[in-house]
Amino acid sequence: MNRDTLQTTLAQLQTRPTKSLGQNFLHDETVAAWIVNQLDLRPEDHLVEVGPGLGALTEFAVEQCRSATLIEKDGRLAEFLTERFAEKSQVEVLHQDALEFDLRKLFPHGPTKVLGNLPYYVSSQVLFAFTADPSPVGRLVFTLQKEMAERLSAEPSTKAYGAITLIVGRRWRVRYVRTLPGSVFLPAPNVESGVIVLTPRDPSELPDCDGRLFNRLVKEGFAQRRKMLRNMLASHELDWPALCAAIGAEETVRGEALSLRQWVELTRFVEAAKDPAAFHAKAQDVHGEIFDVVDDENRVISQETRSKVHTQKLKHRAVHILVFNTKGDLFLQKRSRYKDANPGRWDSSAAGHVEAGYDYPETAARELQEELGVSAPLELIGSHPASRETGWEFVQIFRAEHNGPFTWPRAEIESGLFFPVELLDRWTAARPHDFSNSFLASFRLWRESRPNP
Ligand code: SAM
Repeated sequence: MNRDTLQTTLAQLQTRPTKSLGQNFLHDETVAAWIVNQLDLRPEDHLVEVGPGLGALTEFAVEQCRSATLIEKDGRLAEFLTERFAEKSQVEVLHQDALEFDLRKLFPHGPTKVLGNLPYYVSSQVLFAFTADPSPVGRLVFTLQKEMAERLSAEPSTKAYGAITLIVGRRWRVRYVRTLPGSVFLPAPNVESGVIVLTPRDPSELPDCDGRLFNRLVKEGFAQRRKMLRNMLASHELDWPALCAAIGAEETVRGEALSLRQWVELTRFVEAAKDPAAFHAKAQDVHGEIFDVVDDENRVISQETRSKVHTQKLKHRAVHILVFNTKGDLFLQKRSRYKDANPGRWDSSAAGHVEAGYDYPETAARELQEELGVSAPLELIGSHPASRETGWEFVQIFRAEHNGPFTWPRAEIESGLFFPVELLDRWTAARPHDFSNSFLASFRLWRESRPNP
């Protein structure tokens, strides 16, 4: 949309840019096309645009993707966009505050691409919302106030480097790709803008650490930039010389001099100091586990090690537990990428094998405790016979009610979230490969066991 069209459109709508909504409209079509190109859209992609305004970016983006959700807070503009893109059946315009948008709706689309020339007054909140863990987003291209874009992409020991660099940077790679002068917008803001591209960081790039503790330590460490980190983190009563030796830093170091990797190592050190037993507890020695082997009628006939049971496809027993909150949403866990079976897939709230000498209900209670850190009454809702689909397991499925919060072993579970059941209906139908087969079977069984609402 060029400057003339923009001005004519605003006049036709009998409206002017609203300052309180951060309305600075892009009128340079070459720049708009260039920004959209950074999103690397493919014909199969779903796009979300935050604050589409009059559609300066949208007009290029919707031509390159399968479907789009446009979230615009200004009712006049949302109405205009609905008319403008009416002939595109796959474009949905939401008259909504982007901070109230439920990102879980995006999971059925697969990794979504997100675009936005963000209103400055709310840009950091939008950024945090769209990068929260777990995120259905595969790539983001945001135009922000230049200073903010620089902070997000800053290097250690620079003025721009701070808590936000690290908190976002631990899970996302951030690239600063272009500076835009105020003159490409109408009205022109009196500061420059910066365009950044965010892509999810491969978890294997950095050692694993407790994300919540990391965020807390980073905020504490940067609360007063000029002070030594030793003083900023004094309340944790750490063995400071040992910590500095472990992370390779001077004892007088300031937070701003530590790299992302050093902050992660520092978090691991604090985690180990606070609860050494939990930190050093290795993932269970699963290969040594002994399972009951059963016959075609699920009667115990022998005991074998886990590895033999799996390599020889011997029939054995397992439990799946579906945990619902009081709203009726179902909690799913995302399996760790390092699991040997179904890595990175979404799975039942908790699940596990029945070990030799234990029964199904005892195992279900133990798995709920070990995987989610809670206990709750369990109700048996059904079972599956052993088959190739269940991995030769006779599975019993239990239901429990709990509102969380849950704590899970990070070696086993990457993250978890409650999902509305109707959303899971759509998601499992659209992208069954996002889930473990045994969850799909358990979910189907639970769905069939209850009348439709
Ligand atoms: N994308 C358009 C462009 O490049 O010309 C408009 C960009 S303008 C900087 C920001 C847009 O975000 C405006 O259309 C404004 O109405 C909208 N907006 C402001 N606050 C919003 C919010 N909380 N949620 C969604 N949209 C918002």
